[in-house]
Amino acid sequence: MPKAPKPQPGIMDIELYVGGASTVDGVANVIKLSSNENPWGPSEKAVEAFQRAAHELHRYPGTDHASLRAAIGEVHGLDPERIICGVGSDEIITFLCQAYAGPGDEVIHTEHGFSMYRISALAAGAKPVEVPERDRVVDVDAILAGVTRKTRLVFIANPANPTGTMVGKKELGRLAEALPSHVVLVLDGAYAEFVDGFDGGVALVDKYPNVVMTRTFSKIYGLGGLRIGWGYAQREVIDVLNRLRGPFNLSTAQLAAAEAAVRDRAHVERCRSENSRLRAWLAGALAGHGVPSDTSSANFVLARFGTPEEAGACDEYLRSEGVIVRRVAGYKLPDCLRITVGDEASCRRVAHLIGLFKGAGSEKDKNDG
Ligand code: PMP
Repeated sequence: MPKAPKPQPGIMDIELYVGGASTVDGVANVIKLSSNENPWGPSEKAVEAFQRAAHELHRYPGTDHASLRAAIGEVHGLDPERIICGVGSDEIITFLCQAYAGPGDEVIHTEHGFSMYRISALAAGAKPVEVPERDRVVDVDAILAGVTRKTRLVFIANPANPTGTMVGKKELGRLAEALPSHVVLVLDGAYAEFVDGFDGGVALVDKYPNVVMTRTFSKIYGLGGLRIGWGYAQREVIDVLNRLRGPFNLSTAQLAAAEAAVRDRAHVERCRSENSRLRAWLAGALAGHGVPSDTSSANFVLARFGTPEEAGACDEYLRSEGVIVRRVAGYKLPDCLRITVGDEASCRRVAHLIGLFKGAGSEKDKNDG
């Protein structure tokens, strides 16, 4: 038998990304709280723009995304020349690894950090290096202790996924200041819009040539299915990343929908305030059932159970009732379940079921004892 061709080093170390499940065998109407999707969906204006794009499907899209970048720039007060758009922020993460890390280089991510950092580092032939967090919060000193001559990139999501926690402005400033200039600091702002008044770290990008911010249309904009993200950095970095970007990486429909979405500030504001209200309610209800969580700044709550077994049993129970949440054992949080903040009915349902699960558990403890 002839042998299959051998891939580049590191490729076979990549464990496939596991997305949130969306079906349960035998259950028709599931409640999906496993992928941090926006339960209210995208802006109607984005949907209309997407539909209008259907009339132009025979045309190639523009290659420079000028109109979308101008809209993002206008809304966020940023220079459009310093913005790059990609197929989700995942693609920007991929470009960053391809551009700045290769064989022999190290890419730092934190203990519970988003898994695409590791995957993209390996895909570029670089070595992912994990540094500890402190009680599920990114630890700036641990990152600085992990930096070596070989470090080329540091990835931090703020707010973080799957913990929902944040690093304060002062701490981030300390990290950016202390990192050597050969290290690119990536501030992943996928969930930044859920924090009222937070701009994702723009001032640090403006101050340091080695700081990059990434953002997405998948979360608060409710366009996860369409795949659009963007990055903001100083011009030299954007110039580097654009050389890796396929000229037609975003379709006409993606560009049109994203532009309409970013301009609909009322929709974003509604989603942010509803998310904050329901997140607080959900965290409070879970705490009332004996399930604590860290204060979340994102659109999910990381529910902590007593043991990995209890988290697994609760996950199974929720599934059997048609509610899908996310196990995060792969993120070194085996005793936790990540629960997306859904609409009001979904939040009430998941909290009610967890209450029944915990109640049944304590009844059992009493009987056993
Ligand atoms: N960063 C973080 C922290 C995320 O949670 C996600 C989505 N799960 C992404 C980036 C990527 O999102 P997208 O590619 O849809 O923009």
